[in-house]
Amino acid sequence: MSGPDISGIGMTSARTRDRLVKRLQAGGISNVDVLERIRNVPRHLFVDEALASRAYEDTELPIGHSQTISQPYVVARKTEALISAGPVKKVLEVGTGCGYQTAVLAPLVGQIHGIERIAPLLHRARQTLFELGIKNVRLKHGDGWKGWPEEAPFDGILVAAAAETTPQDLIDQLVVGGRLIIPVGGRGGQDLLQLTKRAGGTIERESLGLVSFVPLLEGKIR
Ligand code: SAH
Repeated sequence: MSGPDISGIGMTSARTRDRLVKRLQAGGISNVDVLERIRNVPRHLFVDEALASRAYEDTELPIGHSQTISQPYVVARKTEALISAGPVKKVLEVGTGCGYQTAVLAPLVGQIHGIERIAPLLHRARQTLFELGIKNVRLKHGDGWKGWPEEAPFDGILVAAAAETTPQDLIDQLVVGGRLIIPVGGRGGQDLLQLTKRAGGTIERESLGLVSFVPLLEGKIR
């Protein structure tokens, strides 16, 4: 066979994907659009071929450059939290990595602006999203710690790397009613926080559970 196996047929059976979806449901994910995305996005295209057979396990996997593709459960949880308050038009994603979270979310929102600090990962993400025909995504190479001020405000912001504290610039770039979903804490483990900006700038805070993410780092890498 030549070229990428977009359908995933032959790589992973429908049963393998069903098993993953059932596992996420058992873990409390109930949004049917999110579950369908987890079923349909070919996660094996986002990892090295050597790891493709493990792509539908509910676990993070290495993607090179000391980074990982997020665990499907965590991607589903964040996606569900982001879209549960109603339609979301413009999203900022900090830490696009291989682009898996981007692909899951893309058809469920208006537009995604993604930032990734490691250039080779960004180039691969761009290629994979292109192969999947996902068009409502704009990606840039940079340090997402300060957000994307030229494109602000955003209805939602997803951060895929752990911060010790919540970056104020990201809160500033949210619309009133907008949500920031970010793992906050040290290297040992973090609290996945959902921060909703209310009128007057008040922040409503909800914990979505304990997670383990790679750290949010400053600066970019060519
Ligand atoms: N969203 C990915 C997860 C990627 S892991 C997925 O769906 O699997 C987190 C990513 O955040 C890494 O690729 C890392 O390089 C990136 N990252 C860390 N700090 C960053 C920063 N300050 N700006 C942009 N990207 C950052």
